[in-house]
Amino acid sequence: MRRALAEARLAYEADEVPVGALVLDRSGTVIGTGHNDRERTADPTGHAEIVAMRQAAAALGTWRLSGCTLVVTLEPCTMCAGASVQARVDRIVYGAIDLKAGAVGSLWDVVRDRRLNHRPEVFAGVLADECAALLTEFFTHRRVG
Ligand SMILES: [Zn+2]
Repeated sequence: MRRALAEARLAYEADEVPVGALVLDRSGTVIGTGHNDRERTADPTGHAEIVAMRQAAAALGTWRLSGCTLVVTLEPCTMCAGASVQARVDRIVYGAIDLKAGAVGSLWDVVRDRRLNHRPEVFAGVLADECAALLTEFFTHRRVG
């Protein structure tokens, strides 16, 4: 999560919403990293999780991220939760809870919907305060500036 937070800080410095993510393979090696880059790329799917999963899939040479763990500083949205199910990730570890748009336990629980036959395991609230503080700081400054 510390490494994901470092990614989130890169987004912050680039004036993007500070969310960072990474993908670990079965052995715990980082095979994908990403941070929010929607503004820079003008891409609505430019969320940290998508960027990290794309990189991991490219590294493995397959869309199938079975055995992998997605680590992200903020609870994934519906798109990213859906993508993680599509990618067959084994585990999702996230920091701050997103009461406004979270799809891994807050507003929805896309990844643990019993109707889906792939359901990643979830670990929520890892370094949650630190992850949330970065977002609060970003939005506070943006409102003032
Ligand atoms: Zn997302």
